[in-house]
Amino acid sequence: MDPHLLRILNASRKCRCCGATFAELLSLSCDRPDICSEDLIVQDNSAIVAENGDILTEDFCRLGELYFIRAILTFPVANSAGAEFVLGTWANLPVEDFHTYLAIFDGQEEELPPKRPVWLANVIPLHEGKPAACTLVMRSEGQYPELDIAEPGHPLNELQNRGLTFEELLGMLHSYGHDIPSLVYDS
Ligand SMILES: [Zn+2]
Repeated sequence: MDPHLLRILNASRKCRCCGATFAELLSLSCDRPDICSEDLIVQDNSAIVAENGDILTEDFCRLGELYFIRAILTFPVANSAGAEFVLGTWANLPVEDFHTYLAIFDGQEEELPPKRPVWLANVIPLHEGKPAACTLVMRSEGQYPELDIAEPGHPLNELQNRGLTFEELLGMLHSYGHDIPSLVYDS
């Protein structure tokens, strides 16, 4: 394992902005799709079926004709003996798939659908701009579905395959507003 990574993974230093350790920052999440206005408040999941119109809940979002669910995007960390950076993101999916997923969540549907094509609905730091076509992979009950970047030429596809370098990982955390010096150096 990269000795720098090992050292800060095991350190108890905390980020000055949020109080999280480096190990805790390996799991971050976006609370809404990028297109969703900050004005929408996050409601309990039950509101997605109970209310009409644009709505954001913990795991579902509906904006006009657009439908989203929460899904995780995992990047391995290179030379880390299996460490991963896990980002809670959002997937934009067709309305039929959205309803299938709601039924699974609600316990009405037990059979998991096969892998489905979706769009990543959050811009990922380091590779901003180009939206990524993904495959949504269902996982067992109680786990968020996972996103595989499906486009062979997309920069995020390469990143998912080769893993983040230590510097890229720090860059990613910095982009999400965390204070890298307080995590990396003893004060
Ligand atoms: Zn922080």
